[in-house]
Amino acid sequence: MGDNKLKPGIAAGRLTAEDYRANFSDLHPPLDRHEAAVEADRCYFCHDAPCMTACPTSIDIPMFIRQISTGNPLGAAKSIFDQNILGGMCARVCPTETLCEEVCVRETAEGKPVKIGQLQRFATDSAMNAGKQFYERGADTGKRVAVVGAGPAGLACAHRLTMHGHSVTLLDARPKAGGLNEYGIASYKTVNGFAQTEVDYILSIGGISCEYGKKLGSDIRLADLASDYDAVFVGIGLAGVNALGDADAAATGSEDAVEWISELRQARDLAKVPVGRRVVVIGGGMTAIDAATQSKALGADEVTIVYRGPRERMKASEYEQELAQTRGVTIRYEMSPKKIVTTGGAVTAVEFARGNEEISIPCDQVMKAIGQTLDISVLADAKLKLDKGRIAIDGEGRTSVAGIWAGGDCVNQGDDLTVTATAQGRDAAESIHAALGS
Ligand SMILES: Cc1cc2nc3c(=O)[nH]c(=O)nc-3n(C[C@H](O)[C@H](O)[C@H](O)COP(=O)(O)OP(=O)(O)OC[C@H]3O[C@@H](n4cnc5c(N)ncnc54)[C@H](O)[C@@H]3O)c2cc1C
Ligand code: SF4
Repeated sequence: MGDNKLKPGIAAGRLTAEDYRANFSDLHPPLDRHEAAVEADRCYFCHDAPCMTACPTSIDIPMFIRQISTGNPLGAAKSIFDQNILGGMCARVCPTETLCEEVCVRETAEGKPVKIGQLQRFATDSAMNAGKQFYERGADTGKRVAVVGAGPAGLACAHRLTMHGHSVTLLDARPKAGGLNEYGIASYKTVNGFAQTEVDYILSIGGISCEYGKKLGSDIRLADLASDYDAVFVGIGLAGVNALGDADAAATGSEDAVEWISELRQARDLAKVPVGRRVVVIGGGMTAIDAATQSKALGADEVTIVYRGPRERMKASEYEQELAQTRGVTIRYEMSPKKIVTTGGAVTAVEFARGNEEISIPCDQVMKAIGQTLDISVLADAKLKLDKGRIAIDGEGRTSVAGIWAGGDCVNQGDDLTVTATAQGRDAAESIHAALGS
């Protein structure tokens, strides 16, 4: 992060304690029992529910909503967790506006979908707050599986494997589990340390031994894991970032957005997180939106997202774009970065090209959010087949090497979403279980 001793434009503590609290409070405050009952009553309990088909984890949505409406939130939670053990986080972070809620018949008929995400949160919170566990470890099969990466994909895989009685070793390079739930997702989507609460909830099933600070490629090797364990699941996400190329400059105020967000997420005191007075964010996905929105929430005066394509090609949904705009972020389209301008080793502006025109946006801080990549070097010894820079898998999550499965952002299938990673981790566990034949 920028050091405010080096650059006056970047400073921490721009806001009052009350402002920080308000700016980083829950994006959608939870429904209370009455609100949940009223919302649940709006559901038509459709027979061929389109919402369920649109959910990557195929949660039985009409069923869990009916359970809420009949006063059985714990039953509703079980219906959700049976399909998606990270149902609590997905309720908070899923882009429901492009998944279940987009196809809800209430949306099609009257432009106002049933609030499926909020109802899912009501149910899962009810169970987690009551300390209600629905699953236990299956009878020991004597089989051992290594799961590399403790993000949504790895956690879902580990949980399902242990339900089937396999012993799991969960390895992660970071000091904590959760993956981007802990280090990436915007703070206001997952308040009060929910990511770790959920990790604890998932791991409490037992039979999962966690080894943190273990990096594939240096501390451990894939080929060794494949020979030491009965099966291996790889869910290492995308640890690399795309480079800006010639336009880039290593200078105070020039940040990688994912890294900056990760430091923000780990900060104990938001008043100690420095931010520029004027911030430019380069990119068009969720990371760009989150870096910009959180810069504004930390007290930056002017925050501009600059995307090189037109609005409709931006990866962040309309909803996410509007969220950023309503929080004071400006989005400019069809401008390509040409140069990060520096003076005395610090960022002062970014120059962009729009057609033949050159546009300079003055700033103290520039955040690069131009996409993440798979670090393929860590997989080299196992010779996994790749496809478009990611691990090639089949419909069950099997890689090209027998005994190794993969899922989540690091593979060549699905959207880069928490819910997709969860579905792929769960499905790979079922495939591993079938292959282990126990
Ligand atoms: C800023 C940001 C905001 C996002 N917001 C949303 C959102 O609002 N909604 C949504 O649905 N999705 C969102 N996403 C996407 C979502 O977070 C990912 O799709 C999801 O986390 C992928 O899960 P995963 O388990 O595949 O990978 P990750 O969550 O990335 O987890 C991978 C794990 O593997 C570990 N690891 C990496 N390399 C190694 C190695 N060599 N050895 C050992 N361990 C390793 C990492 O430490 C990490 O714990 C966001 C992503 C970002 C970057
Ligand atoms: S589509 Fe909408 S109304 Fe129909 S079951 Fe799903 S949530 Fe209920």
